[in-house]
This record gives sequence, structure tokens and C-alpha cells, in this order.
Amino acid sequence: MTMLTERELPWLAAPLHAIRHHERSHALLLHVGEGCGGFELALRVAQSWLCEHPDDAARPCDQCPACHLVRSHHHADLRAVMPEALRAELRWLADSDDAAEGAASGSESGGTSKRKLSSEIVVGAIRQAIDWAHTSSSRGRGKVLVLFPADAMNEIAANALLKTLEEPADGLRLLLCTAEPQRLLPTIRSRCQMVRVPAPDTAQSLAWLRQQGVEGAEVLLHAVGGGQPLRARDWAAAGLSAEVWTQLPTQIAAGDTRGLALLPVPQALQALLRLCHDLMAVNAGGAARFFPKANLPRTLDSVALNQWHAALMRVVPHDDHPWNAGLLLEALVTQGRQLLQVHHRGAAHPRAERPHASPHRAHST
Ligand SMILES: [Zn+2]
Repeated sequence: MTMLTERELPWLAAPLHAIRHHERSHALLLHVGEGCGGFELALRVAQSWLCEHPDDAARPCDQCPACHLVRSHHHADLRAVMPEALRAELRWLADSDDAAEGAASGSESGGTSKRKLSSEIVVGAIRQAIDWAHTSSSRGRGKVLVLFPADAMNEIAANALLKTLEEPADGLRLLLCTAEPQRLLPTIRSRCQMVRVPAPDTAQSLAWLRQQGVEGAEVLLHAVGGGQPLRARDWAAAGLSAEVWTQLPTQIAAGDTRGLALLPVPQALQALLRLCHDLMAVNAGGAARFFPKANLPRTLDSVALNQWHAALMRVVPHDDHPWNAGLLLEALVTQGRQLLQVHHRGAAHPRAERPHASPHRAHST
């Protein structure tokens, strides 16, 4: 897969320039919003540091063996520590003893079996990275250790990293990348130089999405919550179209799951949660953020709405669903449909709101 640079992600150009010229710390904390190219930024900084023929502005040459190795994810002096699940998603393939991380962290044996991929950075991975940092640099320009996202480190892992942050191995530089620095231990934060990367503005995001061939860019950018062009692109690649997104509220109200079924389960759950957030916002007199063009009902039963929200919040933050995700999704859609249908019946047939006129209440199913 090709590595995106500041040429393709123009909002990274200024922060990269600043880092190349002003940051001399051995540990940088890159504060980059989700879906804004944090990993790409970290790789590009690493490439600048490892390039064997950087230009006068400290930009990597993109030609030397080191640059090629970074871009193909094979530089022996660059290591990225990330949760296994993300590693699979980013196709940052284990080309070394990284493959042993899962087993070392106490998971099931049998690396190729369908065991659950960890969404944390575990202490085993940090210890291995520290060992790696103490071996000699293979191309003589030091080593770069990327932690992405750094807030995925659990507390034991973070504590294991502290000493390395304080007294790094010779020639080691660290790049901790996170969208939420406040989730890091204060002791980790205080040992890093923070670099805050502003999110691209809407015009930049839309221009980029259109350049990527994403249709309905504006709707999709709203769908992800704005300011996250890479996430919008990923959602489009996962099967979400502007049309599907726009029709989603009506479809859910009608119990039609065709649009939702086009999405992978995690995105489908996110879509439901976003719809729920917007319903809560408009029912509280506010504006819809994710579905600004939809005509959302404003007189929903607040108890049922809160219950739906609670049900979604129980599952959405966890990517690793312990039970059948399809059934779970179905139950959540049913709950949303009941919530919206009560409203629809009420809106279409005002008299149906009289208690005796609606004998088949949703909760009887
Ligand atoms: Zn180079």
C-alpha cells in the first residue's frame, strides 16, 4: 500500500516543516485528530530522520534505500508498535518478531487461528521494542520507534515505557501519536515534546476527498463528524455512500436494514449511535450534526430515546463484541425502529396517540 505524504495530505505540510526545523527532542508527542493522518505524519517524520540524503530543508529524498525501506514498511531501524487489530487494518505486516507479540502477551496459542485481536498496546510489545532499541542501528542513522495510537498503551505498558522515555537507548527517537493526549499518563506526557497538528478545515477536507474520488464528500464528511477526511474515505471504501447515509433515518424508522447491511458491523453501530446523537440533539432543541439534511423527528419519547442511547453506548465503544454482532445490530435497529415508529404513527395519525387507539405498543413485541 502506498504511503501518503504531505503532498497528498497538504494539512500535514506545515507541522512537518515545523518538526523538521524546530523539534530536537528525542520524544515527540504528535497530537493529531482521528482520521487526520496521524500515522502518515509519524511515518513521514520517521522517514525524514532516517533518510540518507535529506535536502537542505531536511525533507527526505524519497530516492535512497532508507526512504524506500520506510515507504515499504521494511526499514529495520523503524518500528511501529500498535494494537494487533490496528496492525491488521493498516496492513502493517509483522516482518519480524512482532508476530510473537500476541503469544507473548498471554493470548491463545496458534498465531494463525481466529483469536481475538487485541485493541491495546500490551506490555510485551513495549518490552520487545525496548530490546530492539538497544540493538545497534542497521543503517547507522539511529532508530525510530512509533507508538500508534499511544493512548492504546495500557497502564502496565505505559509504565514499562517510562524509563526509555527518560533515558532512551543511543540514537533512539520516539514518536507517540494520539488524538487524545489527556488519556496518556501525565508522566508520559511530561517526558515528551508536544506537537499539536490542527485538523484540516472543511474546504481542505472536501477538496481532498474529491481528489480521492469520493462521491458525496460533503455528506460523508458530516457522517464521520467533520474534520476527519481519512475516516470519511475509509467509510466510503467500506461501502457507505452519501445516498445510503441520507436515507438511513427513514430506513431505520421503517425497519429497513438494507442500507445498514452494506456497512461492516463496527461502522453500522457507529451509524446508529450517530443517528441517536442527532435525535437527542434535535429533541433537545439543537441541530443535527451527522444528518444535517435529514428531517429528524423532534417529539420523541425521551425515555425510549435515552434507553436506545444507553443500549448503543454499552456496545459501540468496544470493537471486540463478545457475542454475535449481527444479532446485536438487529436488536439495536429494532429498538431504534420502535422509537421512531411510535413517532411516525403519531405524526401520520394524530388520533392514534390516544391511549386506547394504539393497542399494539412497541414494547409488546
Ligand atoms: Zn532518502
